[in-house]
Amino acid sequence: MDSSTRSSVIVVGAGISGISAAKVLAENGVEDIVILEASDRIGGRIRKECFGGVSVELGAGWIAGVGGRESNPVWELAVEQNLRTCYSDYSNARYNIYDQSGKIIPSGIAADSYKKAVDSAIQKLRNEEEAEANDDANINGGNDSNKITKPPSTPKTPVELAIDFILHDFEMAEVEPISTYVDFGEREYLVADERGYDYLLYKMAEDFLFTSEGRILDDRLKLNKVVRELQHSRNGVTVITEDGCVYEANYVILSVSIGVLQSDLIAFNPPLPRWKFEAIEKCDVMVYTKIFLKFPYRFWPSGPEKEFFIYAHERRGYYTFWQHMENAYPGSNILVVTLTNEESKRVEAQSDEETLRESMAVLRDMFGPNIPDAIDILVPCWWNNRFQRGSYSNYPIISNRKVFHNIKAPVGHIFFTGEHTSEKFNGYVHGGYLAGIDTGKALVEEIRKEKEREKESQTLLLEPLLALTGSLTMSKSETVSNIHKCDIPTQLYLSGKLGIPEAIL
Ligand SMILES: Cc1cc2nc3c(=O)[nH]c(=O)nc-3n(C[C@H](O)[C@H](O)[C@H](O)COP(=O)(O)OP(=O)(O)OC[C@H]3O[C@@H](n4cnc5c(N)ncnc54)[C@H](O)[C@@H]3O)c2cc1C
Repeated sequence: MDSSTRSSVIVVGAGISGISAAKVLAENGVEDIVILEASDRIGGRIRKECFGGVSVELGAGWIAGVGGRESNPVWELAVEQNLRTCYSDYSNARYNIYDQSGKIIPSGIAADSYKKAVDSAIQKLRNEEEAEANDDANINGGNDSNKITKPPSTPKTPVELAIDFILHDFEMAEVEPISTYVDFGEREYLVADERGYDYLLYKMAEDFLFTSEGRILDDRLKLNKVVRELQHSRNGVTVITEDGCVYEANYVILSVSIGVLQSDLIAFNPPLPRWKFEAIEKCDVMVYTKIFLKFPYRFWPSGPEKEFFIYAHERRGYYTFWQHMENAYPGSNILVVTLTNEESKRVEAQSDEETLRESMAVLRDMFGPNIPDAIDILVPCWWNNRFQRGSYSNYPIISNRKVFHNIKAPVGHIFFTGEHTSEKFNGYVHGGYLAGIDTGKALVEEIRKEKEREKESQTLLLEPLLALTGSLTMSKSETVSNIHKCDIPTQLYLSGKLGIPEAIL
């Protein structure tokens, strides 16, 4: 049992949103905080690992949204720290599509399939919008607005399936226009720095936590603390961790992912209200897995316009999207293949040897039987990680603002943050960063109001006492005429002139 004293705020989770929220609190004078992190490191879904002699990013890899009219705050942090990045141009990927016999699909066919997939996506969106409008009209009593919708065409050939996958699971996984690209610009930069993407978090933490020689030594950050229960009331929150420690605070900022909120890792006592629970359930979770393969030498075409390539297979999403790391780390001889959703879950459930065997068979389809075997493989598991349960939030294409609002809204003394609470930038690192700042500020404001409320109620409670104290030195008539002039006793009370101990303020 941790015999901790009560703190002002407990932040659950030390990903970018938890750290940025805690920083805002500290900057605003709320320094008696505790950060409880389930894993043994800060960063959450920003996570590097040494693989094949270089630092690879298992989670977030890109700073998305650069070069626009507004500056992406995460890009600013990266520039400040001189983080090494590498421009990514995905636009060539569609001209590097390999079929199962290793032939590159002619650009005309690829362009046609691309157009078809875009048209189909637009049609699908229209149909969903119309269905929504019809539902609303039916609810409001009218029914003549029901229109016959045209079914979107379904991808059939391996090329169509591959392009459909790229469009839906990558480019158009969000509703257009995408705020990230509209606000911050179209460019994306891959972080290729030995210090890792999480170096930005460390630098943020350095501003308010005690650090030494690249390590956070501050007692307020507690690693390996898995929060299992939040008991909350109007008086505050009691947090219980898996190892039996109990922490108390006036408020909690909960920054765990939407996948964790949907799981039963954390029990709420009393349970979350229905509106909150239902909103959490409505948000989808995307699983996105980057598998890294190290080779003894390079056998794939290199150059910036060849960085991304696609494998067309009759099974949608089967080892479809590939990237070589020669632009990021020349001579590293590393390939990355990205899987999503069901394919990610399937691969997480099998051995790495099996995944290696499947990847090699795909690479031999594309580059021939004589390529060398990979000498190492790294398969991150974001779905089966009980502290993540997926890679990022993915709101349904047509989702109403109320869902966002309810996911973000506090429940009593529990405040919610994380990328999933960012209406404009959910799913991104900058979404997490800005959400943390937003929640930190909202809580600072709440604490300020709470203090004001306390002062007011104490003044009201003390008013008769103060009036009485005043009457000891006043005549009866003066006392009666002054009894409602609470401004005078309040001023005396606040300045401590009545001898009331300051401590009870
Ligand atoms: C594979 C992958 C690729 C991505 N690619 C990109 C990209 O290229 N660009 C981009 O902008 N974004 C990308 N993202 C998304 C980005 O990483 C996230 O949006 C962002 O990092 C989320 O930050 P967060 O603070 O909201 O959550 P997290 O980073 O998940 O932080 C939450 C923290 O809470 C902790 N926690 C969970 N449960 C408990 C508990 N019970 N008790 C205590 N602590 C707990 C977790 O361990 C974690 O540290 C990617 C994500 C993944 C997984």
